[in-house]
Amino acid sequence: MDALELKIEKAPLLTVQETVEKGQSLAGATRLQLADALRALDVPERDLRMRSNQLWHWIYHRGVTDFDAMLNVSKPMRALLSAHFTLARPEVVSEQISVDGTRKWLIRLPPRGPHDKGAEIETVYIPESDRGTLCVSSQVGCTLNCSFCHTGTQRLVRNLTTAEIVAQLLVARDRLGDWPGAERPTDGFVPDAWRAVSNIVLMGMGEPLYNFEAVRDAMGVVVDGDGLSLSRRRITLSTSGVVPMIARAGDEIGSMLAISLHAVRDDLRNELVPLNRKYPIKDLLAACRAYPGLSNARRITFEYVMLDGVNDSHADARELVRLLKGMPAKINLIPFNPWPGSQYQCSSWEKIEEFSDIVFRAGYASPVRTPRGRDILAACGQLKSETEKLRARARLMLESGIGAEGMYATAHGE
Ligand code: SAH
Ligand code: SF4
Repeated sequence: MDALELKIEKAPLLTVQETVEKGQSLAGATRLQLADALRALDVPERDLRMRSNQLWHWIYHRGVTDFDAMLNVSKPMRALLSAHFTLARPEVVSEQISVDGTRKWLIRLPPRGPHDKGAEIETVYIPESDRGTLCVSSQVGCTLNCSFCHTGTQRLVRNLTTAEIVAQLLVARDRLGDWPGAERPTDGFVPDAWRAVSNIVLMGMGEPLYNFEAVRDAMGVVVDGDGLSLSRRRITLSTSGVVPMIARAGDEIGSMLAISLHAVRDDLRNELVPLNRKYPIKDLLAACRAYPGLSNARRITFEYVMLDGVNDSHADARELVRLLKGMPAKINLIPFNPWPGSQYQCSSWEKIEEFSDIVFRAGYASPVRTPRGRDILAACGQLKSETEKLRARARLMLESGIGAEGMYATAHGE
């Protein structure tokens, strides 16, 4: 275990017995966890499969939040389930809707044991004309401290559980009326597609490959054809380059892969993405070339944040093309999204276009990602939950002798 990993708190896990005693929610459970929960209620072994399938259908295909809605489950069984479990989702503390229709939810996760205070995460929904993408968090905060990323400045970090990752999709579908028979919201914009959430990107808070098992199991729930039923091809996992986990991600998650490259030389990438000191560009690209299932139809996306005067020269663009030679790849240029206290500026539009032209002429698709939800700090790298900001402010206020009331007024008056 290295220093970077040491700082991550494991999500505290409850035993099945504790779960039953605490009336925990089954929303977000895997098939195994559902079977365990039923077993704990003394459901006979021979009925477990049938009962789990029933629950699975109601929870993940129909989106019910009450056991009483499960019409093909017997009344006594429904009563037993209600007595021990819930189907509650974590609380949505706030919903912000950007002028461009992007929605950002601040979600409060309940404490997971006596030593856990609970946590807050952000999930972002990005509607487009023909699709709706949910940007899902995998950790509270991130340990990796990329110098241009707001999330990396959050001090408290813990891994999310499988259920907490799945719950982000459940919350989004609740809010967007994205269940059979449910009504779409009348405010903001929701695409007129069959599914309001048609795609998932693991690009919210956190490094998904530092929380591998939970992310893998959550995506297993999400792609299950009898439930949420999203195709693996519509899931993109973005990593800052945890090289030893990339092959496993291909084998066990099977999603599309995005790599946060951002620089073409190790000296600069060491600065922007400090994980590069451990896994330099050469090793990262070798792992990409070996990514299982890689083909022209299944290309790797290389994300490249455009930082004015830092990584946006013509020479950088040419080197990028050289590095990716022969690899089925797309290059996604991301205009830098500023956040309070950030030390960089976004490259000029002209610079971004020149960079994109060089890449395009070399035969790579090089879309420039339109920043979405910038006005509500929902764009890439801007996520950082409010609790942390409030806490930081509270500290400053305390240090400067202002009491709690002053802090409250400042926090809400901005
Ligand atoms: N930790 C993972 C996934 C989350 S970040 C990763 O780093 O890949 C999602 C993307 O947003 C990454 O490519 C990240 O580098 C980028 N990003 C971070 N901060 C940004 C900012 N301020 N402006 C634009 N993109 C940013
Ligand atoms: Fe973490 Fe990704 Fe932000 Fe880097 S860019 S600090 S890896 S969330």
